[in-house]
Amino acid sequence: MECKEFEHLIPDFLQKNMGYGVMEDFREHMDHCEACKEELSIQFLVAEGMRHLEDDGAFDLQKELDRRLEENRNRLLIHKKLLLARRHFFTALITAVCMVILLFLG
Ligand SMILES: [Zn+2]
Repeated sequence: MECKEFEHLIPDFLQKNMGYGVMEDFREHMDHCEACKEELSIQFLVAEGMRHLEDDGAFDLQKELDRRLEENRNRLLIHKKLLLARRHFFTALITAVCMVILLFLG
């Protein structure tokens, strides 16, 4: 993913509007590009800061960003596990179908 694309996707991330396929590339880029990580932090702080302007100011934005990234990571992990589980399911299903066919043929 290019930096330009990453920047373009930041609003989607902030609005939790990001597809899983993109999310993985997004995080991958963020892990390796300090500039984009910084840009994400800034945009997040601005967006959340505005949203919490009426709060008493005790809101910890950095912690909120960390929490959001953690939540995003967990969702991605769960998604990957589901994909893996589905793949295992299909493998088992195909094996079962093959066995049934073999039984009939035998
Ligand atoms: Zn970048």
